[in-house]
Amino acid sequence: MDVAVERPPVLENSEAGPSRKRSNAETVHELDSLLNRETAKTKLRRLASHGCSTPVFNPICPSTTLTACKALREECDKAHFEPIIRPWTDPSLGYCSYLNLCYGDPMFANNPSLGEGTGPRGGTKECRYLHFQVVPTTQPHYASLPEGFPPNLPKSTIKRLLGESNGGSGEGYEPPKVPQWVNCDVRSFDYSVLGQFQVIVADPPWDIHMSLPYGTMTDDEMRRLPVRSLQPDWGILCLWVTGRAMELGRELFALWGYKRVDELVWVKTNQLQRLIRTGRTGHWLNHTCEHLLVALKLPADHPRDDPIPWDTHPLLRDLRKGVDTDVVVAEVRETSRKPDEVYGVIERLAPKGRKLELFGRKHNTRPGWLTLGNQLGDSQIAESDLHDRLAQKYPAQKFTFVST
Ligand code: SAH
Repeated sequence: MDVAVERPPVLENSEAGPSRKRSNAETVHELDSLLNRETAKTKLRRLASHGCSTPVFNPICPSTTLTACKALREECDKAHFEPIIRPWTDPSLGYCSYLNLCYGDPMFANNPSLGEGTGPRGGTKECRYLHFQVVPTTQPHYASLPEGFPPNLPKSTIKRLLGESNGGSGEGYEPPKVPQWVNCDVRSFDYSVLGQFQVIVADPPWDIHMSLPYGTMTDDEMRRLPVRSLQPDWGILCLWVTGRAMELGRELFALWGYKRVDELVWVKTNQLQRLIRTGRTGHWLNHTCEHLLVALKLPADHPRDDPIPWDTHPLLRDLRKGVDTDVVVAEVRETSRKPDEVYGVIERLAPKGRKLELFGRKHNTRPGWLTLGNQLGDSQIAESDLHDRLAQKYPAQKFTFVST
């Protein structure tokens, strides 16, 4: 879930300008229409009340469990959780802080979308704390989409919304409609076959002195990655950082010739949609959030503190700034897995251009992206020129070609 934050509406004044003073009546009228404007939340509610067929929105009751809810209200059609009482559960102990991600509850091993290569480390004892499951709801929140939704916008409007009309960055580049990935060791891979990418996202296996279900890379191995050669000037590099990598990541930006321009924060929620209070990270404070640093590749001759040509350079001008917020609230999943919502944020910011993810796993592969990692299995490629270069460079390796 992206955080649905309505942007403060711009007070419109068609004859804006210091020369014309607005009358009180105009201001009152404007404020009145603003106050009556539908918020994102009421729009969702209206959609959800249309009855039948497509599940749209399933709000969770703030009381969490049905018992707690019934103590407060007569009726509630929101979703609830109920405790799972196993033979070894001791309800007097209270909630398990890991909930559905607890290695000591069968739910973790049985959930097909969890646990991919991230099984428990150390012994697993049956957890005696309370775990929860969603109460099978008799009144599901179904809704049909109202007529004319999604709106059938004219192509020219869609193009404009996607920022496709003003040239620059990905002009002429049609990203493949299927995901592409290459299974490799990024330390020895020949990057010259890849070409360039407007956006790179990396979630490196930092050596942060934590027990992790995969191998890590030393700081020097990270420093040696030829990231700079993979991007044009003003390309965007997004780096997930945690612990001491918050400093190391910034050092890498300086070393590779990038300038940090923003930072997105992922606020982690648990199965019950509450803030994570005792996750598995944080040596000092328990970590409730993770950080994605966003940087731009500086041209070699651009002094670090000179202004960024936001409005004149085509790559920067074509970015759709001011759409998303710098906070994503999303549920935690397997160890290290990042929320899918972040792809949406990046794709809305830079709809055009090639996109590369470094250190991705199978679940990270996405249409429009090329993913590199060492847990990906047989590689899949859809760009024919890239396929040819890879096949020529690595004749012994299998690169399945898929046409789009
Ligand atoms: N962002 C990912 C998690 C990345 S964890 C997600 O959302 O799931 C880091 C990944 O980097 C792991 O899959 C790990 O196996 C991989 N990795 C570690 N060393 C690597 C190397 N030398 N080359 C390629 N991948 C590597």
